[in-house]
Amino acid sequence: MGAENIYDNDEAWDFHCYMARSLGQKGWLSRPWPREYGGQAAPIIEQLLFNEAKAYYRAPGIDYQGLGMLAPTLLASGNEEQKQQHLPPIARGEIMWCQGWSEPNAGSDLASLKTKAVRDGDYYVVNGQKAWTSGAHRAQWCFMLARTDPEQPRHRGLSFFLVDMKTPGIKLRPVRAMNGTYMFNEMFFDDVRIPRMNMVGEENRGWYVSLMTMNFERSSIGFMAEAKRNLEELSKYCKETKRNGRRLSDDTLVRSLLAQLSIEVEVGLALSYNVAWLQEKVQEKGMEMALQAAVTASAGKVYGSELGQRLAYAGCRIMGLYSQVKAGSKWTPLKGRFESAYQECVSLNMGGGTSEIMRNVIALRGLELPKGT
Ligand SMILES: Cc1cc2nc3c(=O)[nH]c(=O)nc-3n(C[C@H](O)[C@H](O)[C@H](O)COP(=O)(O)OP(=O)(O)OC[C@H]3O[C@@H](n4cnc5c(N)ncnc54)[C@H](O)[C@@H]3O)c2cc1C
Repeated sequence: MGAENIYDNDEAWDFHCYMARSLGQKGWLSRPWPREYGGQAAPIIEQLLFNEAKAYYRAPGIDYQGLGMLAPTLLASGNEEQKQQHLPPIARGEIMWCQGWSEPNAGSDLASLKTKAVRDGDYYVVNGQKAWTSGAHRAQWCFMLARTDPEQPRHRGLSFFLVDMKTPGIKLRPVRAMNGTYMFNEMFFDDVRIPRMNMVGEENRGWYVSLMTMNFERSSIGFMAEAKRNLEELSKYCKETKRNGRRLSDDTLVRSLLAQLSIEVEVGLALSYNVAWLQEKVQEKGMEMALQAAVTASAGKVYGSELGQRLAYAGCRIMGLYSQVKAGSKWTPLKGRFESAYQECVSLNMGGGTSEIMRNVIALRGLELPKGT
């Protein structure tokens, strides 16, 4: 089940929450966390295996913002009170989060964000606008970045806040994706009062706190496992479907396309395993491995997201006009998965950092190429 459907559809959202609570009851959401916060100190590779199975079976129930991004941040930079308040409900799958970072003129260049937070006693008063906030209309809490010192250059004047979405002054405006689903929001802050105790880390150090958000299993295994499942189903469809008296799988071009994708899926899986292995080494050997892990993770993001796109386009090419029939018709192949994947996959190489930015990381930090002029 894709994120766009989960956030768009009430029934899908209820099932997502039910799954989250069920996984939480088993303790499966927080296995990599330290024991004192309800985790089992499980190795990253185990988390990868869980994420791989989850993606392959298209199971919902994982709040990527709360579990994947905020929890590692709080573990690294939150104070004890913040950890006690927020980590257990995330582990139990009870509270869902959204990420308020991007703004209309601050995406890749996040440090240029303009939303302001001005200190007023025990509160900060926030004014500004966020963009592309996935699932803000479903989430109970948001973690966000705001500018607390406009005099400081760029990232040095930012702070990291936790915001209850019920706080007066927060308004959402839906932004429909091109397939019509409601996942994105514009989020407006109009004199929103955030208690000072909801700041994570020190004032004006939010940029460095936000970097901790990346300290989680980031192998992009979800892309690879999803591609594996989609390719298996596409191959089965080609074996079972006849056009002009011939099975699609007898067509040389179709065979070649599927074989190529099969190689790419295996490469992707190997790349993801490599990232998780490197991340484990960071834990064992310390920061000397961190750069290699970060660069390989960027490669995994580029590769996995673009593999998802190549697969969606290949499926639609093979299915021809049938690929345009939406789910629900007797003419729809594979429950319309490729019809929606074709539209959803456009954003894969943008969310979570664009392919160009990832390639910059690989070029500059991995290959140590000079900065372009
Ligand atoms: C599916 C999805 C979900 C998202 N969810 C959230 C969310 O929940 N919360 C949130 O805060 N944000 C979210 N975003 C926003 C996302 O983080 C931004 O879209 C992303 O950071 C890119 O920013 P931008 O859209 O402003 O594009 P820009 O930064 O304006 O980039 C435009 C183009 O220029 C290229 N470019 C920019 N800078 C460089 C450079 N230095 N070198 C080379 N090329 C460059 C980019 O690669 C891109 O192709 C989401 C986006 C998507 C697609």
